[in-house]
Amino acid sequence: MSELTVRAAKLDAVDELAVKRAEFVLDAASGHAADAAGVYLDGNSLGALPAVVPGRVEDVVRRQWGELRIQSWEESGWWTAPERIGDRIAPLVGAAPGQVVVGDSTSVNVFKALVGAVRMAGDGRDEVLVDATTFPTDGYIAESAARMTGRTLRPVAPAEVPGALGDRTAAVLLNHVDYRTGRLHDLPALTAAVHEAGALAVWDLCHSAGALPVGLDEHGVDLAVGCTYKYLNGGPGAPAYLYVRRELQDRFDSPLPGWNSHAEPFGMRSGYEPASGAPRGRVGTPDILSMLALEAALEVWEGVPVEAVRAKSLALTDFFLECVAEYVPEGRVECLTPVAHAERGSQIALRCDDAGEVMKRLIERGVVGDYRAPDVLRFGFTPLYVGFADVERAARVLARTLG
Ligand SMILES: *Cc1c(COP(=O)(O)O)cnc(C)c1O
Repeated sequence: MSELTVRAAKLDAVDELAVKRAEFVLDAASGHAADAAGVYLDGNSLGALPAVVPGRVEDVVRRQWGELRIQSWEESGWWTAPERIGDRIAPLVGAAPGQVVVGDSTSVNVFKALVGAVRMAGDGRDEVLVDATTFPTDGYIAESAARMTGRTLRPVAPAEVPGALGDRTAAVLLNHVDYRTGRLHDLPALTAAVHEAGALAVWDLCHSAGALPVGLDEHGVDLAVGCTYKYLNGGPGAPAYLYVRRELQDRFDSPLPGWNSHAEPFGMRSGYEPASGAPRGRVGTPDILSMLALEAALEVWEGVPVEAVRAKSLALTDFFLECVAEYVPEGRVECLTPVAHAERGSQIALRCDDAGEVMKRLIERGVVGDYRAPDVLRFGFTPLYVGFADVERAARVLARTLG
């Protein structure tokens, strides 16, 4: 046994989050070669299945829908699910209750948040800044939102945002963690800079919520969105969420004012009058099956402090980098993820020319990460169900695969 194997076992033995692993379905036969037990390092793309979910979904379908039918909107709490589940996500992103609503996709919520922010910024401000390295959907939607609101969109690297701000800036759309490199941006400092310029800050938390503390209320973030199928394990296509800071809720003018966000939805009025509070971010009928699968999935967070998740996440990524340095010949891969903890999310991105082929072979050997064109190997570390022995094994298989 190598020194790293021994150390991995020791780290797993003292890991307080290790007990959480039993709450996930991880060991189903993968059909992969038996030369490595499976290691799932793609929870930053699709979180693993929490064991509580299948039974809950079965109940929602058979009893709530099958037996109670339309009564379930009241009796099973379907109607209030978007706010109830929003309040469940709230502590994970540092928000007090009543500010988060669940529903629609992240893409749709980026649209609501950004147009809402531009409208609140007022007429004199004609420019919208967007993270130039953003996940594509945010950039596409920002372009359309700017065009629709008669503003100019200006892509800017996050580090350059402070210098690009001015009295023309209406809103800034930023990613908390870069999906490609795993770089963590300085949310408190950037939000403060945006506010100093009199603009609104909109943050996309897709790659940070459930992996590290966000502190939305503490840092005065104006609006935020995020998905729930990555670190929050809500399942494929699980609904996203929208945060609107309490002080802004009465001014939030949604560009998608569906009947679910009406002050009196069942009044069936022809004129629109927005609901107050978080429900103002709703649009139409919620996707109940996905939403209640998510609600069950969120139970694994009970009693789990986000700070403990962050500490383990950093320990896992540190250990992975150490194992890669030990096992992989120098120069074979280049790490794109910052080494400084303050600049690192919960993934490691390694660059190599043959990344697509390498990831294919890695997956055949049971180590599941993902490939991002043109040359990035991406490994996500989900502290609730990934351990140190997994990390060591993944690095060893990676080294063999890189050959
Ligand atoms: C995953 C991700 C999305 C996904 O958007 P969908 O509408 O759910 O497809 C959007 N933005 C970022 C930054 C992401 O990481």
